[in-house]
Amino acid sequence: MSRLPSQARCVIIGGGIIGCSTAYHLARLGWKDVVLVERHKLTSGSTWHAAGLVGQLRTSANITQLLKYSVELYDRLEAEMGQATGWKRNGGLRLACNAQRMIEIKRQATTAHSFGLEMHLLTPKEALDLWPIMDIADLVGAAFLPTDGQANPADIAQALAKGARAAGVAIIEDCAVTAITTKQGRASGVVTAEGEIACEVVVNCAGQWAREIGLLAGVAVPLQSVQHQYLVTEPIAGVPRDLPTLRDPDRLIYFKEEVGGLVMGGYEPNPIPWAQNGIPEGFHFALLDSDQDHFEPLMTEALARVPALETTGIKRFINGPESFTPDGNFILGEAPELKQFYVGAGFNAFGIASAGGAGRALAEWVAGGEAPMDLWPVDIRRFGQLHRDRRWVLARTLEAYGKHYTMAWPHEEYESGRPLRVSPLYERLKAEGACFGSKLGWERPNWFAPPGTPAKDIYSYGRQNWFDAVGAEHRAARERVAIFDQTSFAKFLLVGRDAEAALSWIAANDVSRPAGSLVYTQMLNRRGGIECDLTVSRLAEDSYYIVTGTGFATHDFAWIQANIPSGLEARLIDVTSAYGVLSLMGPRSRDVLAAVAEADLGNTAFPFGSWREIMIAGAPVRALRVTYVGELGWELHVPVEAMAAVYQGLMAAGQAHGIANAGYRAIESLRLEKGYRAWGSDIGPDHTPLEAGLGWAVKLKQNTPFLGREALAAQTAKPLAKRLACFTIADPAVILLGRETIFRDGQQVGWLTGGGWGYTVEKNIGYGYVRRAEGVATDWLKSGRYELEVASERVPAEIHLAPLYDPAMARIKS
Ligand SMILES: Cc1cc2nc3c(=O)[nH]c(=O)nc-3n(C[C@H](O)[C@H](O)[C@H](O)COP(=O)(O)OP(=O)(O)OC[C@H]3O[C@@H](n4cnc5c(N)ncnc54)[C@H](O)[C@@H]3O)c2cc1C
Repeated sequence: MSRLPSQARCVIIGGGIIGCSTAYHLARLGWKDVVLVERHKLTSGSTWHAAGLVGQLRTSANITQLLKYSVELYDRLEAEMGQATGWKRNGGLRLACNAQRMIEIKRQATTAHSFGLEMHLLTPKEALDLWPIMDIADLVGAAFLPTDGQANPADIAQALAKGARAAGVAIIEDCAVTAITTKQGRASGVVTAEGEIACEVVVNCAGQWAREIGLLAGVAVPLQSVQHQYLVTEPIAGVPRDLPTLRDPDRLIYFKEEVGGLVMGGYEPNPIPWAQNGIPEGFHFALLDSDQDHFEPLMTEALARVPALETTGIKRFINGPESFTPDGNFILGEAPELKQFYVGAGFNAFGIASAGGAGRALAEWVAGGEAPMDLWPVDIRRFGQLHRDRRWVLARTLEAYGKHYTMAWPHEEYESGRPLRVSPLYERLKAEGACFGSKLGWERPNWFAPPGTPAKDIYSYGRQNWFDAVGAEHRAARERVAIFDQTSFAKFLLVGRDAEAALSWIAANDVSRPAGSLVYTQMLNRRGGIECDLTVSRLAEDSYYIVTGTGFATHDFAWIQANIPSGLEARLIDVTSAYGVLSLMGPRSRDVLAAVAEADLGNTAFPFGSWREIMIAGAPVRALRVTYVGELGWELHVPVEAMAAVYQGLMAAGQAHGIANAGYRAIESLRLEKGYRAWGSDIGPDHTPLEAGLGWAVKLKQNTPFLGREALAAQTAKPLAKRLACFTIADPAVILLGRETIFRDGQQVGWLTGGGWGYTVEKNIGYGYVRRAEGVATDWLKSGRYELEVASERVPAEIHLAPLYDPAMARIKS
């Protein structure tokens, strides 16, 4: 008889720590009929040779929560399973060797406070007390996270497997999955040498093999194996068993205690990829040859930090491959290409730290059919077509690996794999001084360098070199007219007899208006959280034109597609590449447009919230009367082949009105002043439109059913427990970047979702949710005394519940 069941509810591929954790948590959710299939033995991939440091702090609140949950789980796992895990909460120390790194650490400490994680700033002497064998001559300061720890990775995985087995999960070793079966766009089973298992859900937890498993199902899992080395020393006098883990990012190295000695590893700036042409057969419990020449620079840094290493023997070198991703974050969720096919892979050398929380989130995602919370930083839908290109993924992943410990500068851009996707105006704008940033492979002008200045970002924690140039662009939009190349917007068509019915179900706002109208809307999940934030223009009875942010192309397409009610005739088509976009914004935009377009542009013929086709420079242009900067303006959607001609025409006509090129950093400052929300920071799946102050864009008063309606209706029945508010700080020496802690009357009530400088109001502006279980009524919000913790220091702040800037008022005042 075969040991393989012919049928299961869920098959998990891979018995590393992630597969084991997912199985454990699915079982805890009451899932029966779960089978975990491992090609060799449990932990035989990357898990068995991990160093085992468990840090928790990330730049996202929810990912930090996942890692905090890992710690809580590891705290109890040994007792729960009766199996040693080597887990100890010995704390984590982080060093700073220069002033900028100290600012970074102070900002991290503030982030930690915002996210409810203890992190204390230390003097070099206090750090030495915790880590007595280090040299502190070059230390500026340090920080300590008392709840970080370390574990024996294989033991944690085995304990999770034990728990899963006890709850009924079948774990089958020495059984490789060789194919994935699909039925009508859904995963329907796995094939192994011993037979097939038909199932409802397949979960790909195959570590560095996950890319190949993905390909079997036509799913892109963009990861790359990279060599990662560490060494283990003989015992060292003065190393206590509870020595905290240590990260020394300026020296690119980390340490942990092991049997009275040290583990020391690091992140070389010139990482070495592995298995570019596929992982060799039989690579189980295997290591790569150590490369001591490559490790030498890290060793030199380690000797300077821990002089005792000079006289300590090395027990062994470990060189293990691990999967890394193009942005340093792991990959979680249902694949956009195939329903019921989930991925949990690409853990960038923090898979042990992540496993508890990532396994739980993945299990909840599988069980609920929807992400249990906002997991956007790790969501598989953050990728696009370019991530299917192995060479592109390789270049970007190596760059991301090399940046693991380097300073994470505000506004930092990647450099590899560029340029890839460009607007027809790319060369022209470059010649005009554009400094580009990249998003989902697109080159986008961030700002324009004035003549004689290099179009290059110079990073720092202070005001960066582009500050004044962006100010000039901002003022052009406020006072005259600015032109933004937003070609990278994602654009979809929804067509078919039932397009209106489908979109009415998916969109929270009323999209049943006549052809020619444009509606700003959110799309909600069942919890009422905002999954998409976009505009919908009705082209005809049976077709809509949907425009959303560059980075959300895959996510939003997948969301809309997945939620078209079955049986309705409505097809979604990506038309991003057909149109360039020029946004013409500012009080003189109508004058400029009138000079080139044969159309009535007056408010009656062409009101806000409508679109018209107009001719410009011989091309039919879809002009959308909408704005994200708070000024009169149009988004001009131009056939790509006419972009140069239309741009030229607008620039020529605009000269008389002081037209200026402007970029995304100006848009950010303009929208902060006007209070427009940004998906991914101010709004997202964890926040409802009511909490975000977007209730006006929801058709709750109409009697139409829509996705998320019940949750919103329930929310109206009780006081809101959190609300998005605006905060300002007048002192230009302060810099808001997001994640700063909000205090009301001395009590912590939230953190900023984003921040920046408003050049018109001449203030720092930040947005953040103010939280209070009993409710956040307007009077209560307004009556508080507010402070923001910025880089570990409290600064007085003002709260605002209305937009800071209103063009009509500004004009009256002037
Ligand atoms: C040198 C080194 C040091 C590290 N140090 C740390 C650290 O200090 N802290 C930390 O948090 N992380 C660390 N990591 C990272 C950590 O080891 C990984 O992130 C983690 O083990 C990944 O777990 P996984 O389950 O995704 O992958 P794996 O452990 O590789 O598991 C994947 C499993 O899938 C199986 N599989 C593959 N193909 C198939 C198939 N076709 N059919 C069935 N099964 C299949 C494989 O055999 C394997 O067992 C380190 C990694 C390395 C290399």
